[in-house]
Amino acid sequence: MKRKQFLHYLGASLGAITLAPVLTACGGGDELASTATPDTLAPSQAAAPTASTATTPVAALSPEEIAGLKFMREEEKLAHDVYVALYNVWGANVFSQIAVSETTHTETILALLVKYGIADPAAGKAPGVFEDPALQSLYNTLIAMGQPSLIDALKVGALIEETDIHDINEKKAVTDEADILQVYSSLLCGSGNHLRAFNGQLLAQGVTYVPQVITQAEWDAIANAASETCGG
Ligand code: ZN
Ligand code: ZN
Repeated sequence: MKRKQFLHYLGASLGAITLAPVLTACGGGDELASTATPDTLAPSQAAAPTASTATTPVAALSPEEIAGLKFMREEEKLAHDVYVALYNVWGANVFSQIAVSETTHTETILALLVKYGIADPAAGKAPGVFEDPALQSLYNTLIAMGQPSLIDALKVGALIEETDIHDINEKKAVTDEADILQVYSSLLCGSGNHLRAFNGQLLAQGVTYVPQVITQAEWDAIANAASETCGG
C-alpha cells in the first residue's frame, strides 16, 4: 500500500511536469502511428469505444503506466508468437485456439497505446521479435523449452499464463486509470481461462504442473475456479 501510494504520488508529480508535451504531441502522434502500422491499427480504430474519446483530452500517464502498457503489449505478442510456433511443432489445437485470444489481448493494449499517444514497441516486428531484451530472451528460452515433447510445450503454456497473470497484476497496481484497469482485468480473466486450459491438458497427460512464478495457493485458486466469459 505504501509503495503504491508513493508511486501514485510520483506518477502524479511526473505527470504534471510532462502534461504539456504529452498533450501537444497527441494530435500528430495518432496520424504518425496510423501511417506506420496500417494493418494492426485499422481494426483497433474500428473498435474504439465512443466518439466522446475524440473530444475528451486523455489523461497524462505516469512513466510506470506507460512502461506497463508497452511491456504488456509485447508480452501478449510473446504469448501469441510462442503459441503459434508451438502449434506448428505439435499441432495441438489448444495452442492455435489460445493464440487467437492472445491476438485480441495484444490489440486491446495497442488500442490504449494509440489512445494515449504512446509509441508501439511491436510496430513492424516480425513474429518472435521484441523490443524489450528481457522478452526477447524469454521468447527464445520458451521456444527451446517447448521442443522436446508435447508435455514440455504444454508446460510452456502454463508458464506463460502464470507469468502473464503475475505481470498484469504488477502493472495493475501502478495505474488508477479506469480504462487501463478494465483492460488489465479483462486480460487477467482471459489468462485464467488459458491457465485452466493448459492445466487441463497437462492433467490429461498425467502431469501435475508446479507453478514457477506465482504461489501454489494462487495457482490452485485460479486452476480450480470456473471458466469465465471475459469482457472486452
Ligand atoms: Zn493474454
Ligand atoms: Zn493467455
